[in-house]
Amino acid sequence: MMPDQELNPAEADRLAAGRWLFAQPCNFKFGVVDVNGLPNDDLTEIAFAGRSNVGKSSLINALTGQKALARTSSTPGRTQELNFFALAERNESTQALWMVDMPGYGYAKESKSKIAAWNKLLRNYLRGRMNLRRVFVLIDTRHGIKSNDMDFLNLLDEAAVSYQIVLTKADKPKETALAATLETMQTALVKRPAAHPEMIATSAVKGHGINLLQAEIAGLVDLSAIGYKA
Ligand code: GDP
Repeated sequence: MMPDQELNPAEADRLAAGRWLFAQPCNFKFGVVDVNGLPNDDLTEIAFAGRSNVGKSSLINALTGQKALARTSSTPGRTQELNFFALAERNESTQALWMVDMPGYGYAKESKSKIAAWNKLLRNYLRGRMNLRRVFVLIDTRHGIKSNDMDFLNLLDEAAVSYQIVLTKADKPKETALAATLETMQTALVKRPAAHPEMIATSAVKGHGINLLQAEIAGLVDLSAIGYKA
């Protein structure tokens, strides 16, 4: 990772804002199983999605610097819900944003009825959530985009929800293989209407890219409203 002083000032500011935001408290609040249970849509909201085992819990834990905040998909319970985390909570009613951990998809052992219920919640959530600024779609660097990822990206495009690809486990492949994966995926994304043009490669284990993702998220929030002085 490059030290901040070697970066241009705008990039250094972005990283500083991200670092500040994620140094604020982050707490799990509740799981939502039905759109009627969603909190008010008056705060900025972002969500994390991806196939089971993509490294979503590890990434959320790395972003927030909390080892056990998000639970892995191998943990029973909380896995079929939209899990809401309050970030930069100042008191019971004031916080910067909602981070939503969406259930991992593509887990073979799920029953058909569970999958149907989950798809319904997902569609209703994505179509109706006005404050949802961006969905970060996690893709395992070693596997690339699979067919159930495609189904999910199609759903996001149809719902016109802005999304950005975050590659996980970027410590695994060699640098040349990583560059090739990035290029292939970049090409696949160009024509997708709701896709953010840039991808972020991360490793929860080694820490790469975590600061870039923090900065990206901070850029979606009005930080001055919650006391940040740039
Ligand atoms: P989830 O099911 O998407 O929440 O995934 P987890 O966070 O539970 O991670 C799934 C598996 O991938 C676990 O065995 C993790 O240790 C591993 N993993 C997660 N992130 C990374 C990473 O950045 N690098 C490597 N090498 N392994 C990771």
